[in-house]
Amino acid sequence: MKKYLYIIVLFLAACQPKQKDARELVTVSILPQKYFVDQIAGDLLQVNVLVPPGSSPHNYSILPSQMKDMAKSKVWLQIGLLTFEDAIGDKLADINKDLTIVNCSEGIDAIAGSECEEEGHEHAHHEAYDPHIWLAPAEAKIMVQNTLNALKAGFPQHSVVFDANYELFILKIDSISALIDQKLASLTNRNILIFHPALGYYARQFRLTQTALELDGKEPSPKHIKGIVDLARAQNIRVIFIQKEFDVENAQQLARELEGEVVIIDPLDYDWEKQLQDITDKIAAQK
Ligand SMILES: [Zn+2]
Repeated sequence: MKKYLYIIVLFLAACQPKQKDARELVTVSILPQKYFVDQIAGDLLQVNVLVPPGSSPHNYSILPSQMKDMAKSKVWLQIGLLTFEDAIGDKLADINKDLTIVNCSEGIDAIAGSECEEEGHEHAHHEAYDPHIWLAPAEAKIMVQNTLNALKAGFPQHSVVFDANYELFILKIDSISALIDQKLASLTNRNILIFHPALGYYARQFRLTQTALELDGKEPSPKHIKGIVDLARAQNIRVIFIQKEFDVENAQQLARELEGEVVIIDPLDYDWEKQLQDITDKIAAQK
């Protein structure tokens, strides 16, 4: 009898329409944060990412359709330094007053935003602090610690698993950090030229100097480009890093002037470990 019952249950299960994901929902702002949550939670939680691939987290605004997932989320892990994260505070309280909002930059020594060089510049979307904290292992470790604390508070039934996974991931971050140190150790030219200044924290940790083409989130002016060309020549820089979301045209023109090349990186990629290693290899390859 038991055997028949088993077969019937199997049969019913097979005929069920596709089951809805019953796992509890966590919201994060950007894709690399999903990577952090996945390392800690495995497949115990469902992760909702607000900024979709190809969009900029700097001028993002949450779509009405995304509010539904926000209403179902228990926790929102914010970068804590992105303008769009502040923009919907009041609306959120209406749709989900139980949502715990966590600032993952808590405890990080944030780098102040760049000073405005040009007068009459538009400040509307300018962030007070550099939000690219996930791109340096030192800051990522603090983010991951904040993520662990938030997940344990929100889902205490999984605390033991979270703690064990966290320990392993921290060891991995430490070894990536050591590997980057090693790969960049012999680099004589420690200047990097980049379209959008995503590597501020990375540069701080690994003692590099980052120069950005973009100024306060705006396309570079001819005057600024002229300054960059002079600087790049003086420092013998021939590589311009650019993120795949940005217009490569400007960078290519500059690269031609410097007789150099444009190298594409993807700091918003899901696979955080792979991306950090890729960025490092490309910086290490600079002559
Ligand atoms: Zn950015």
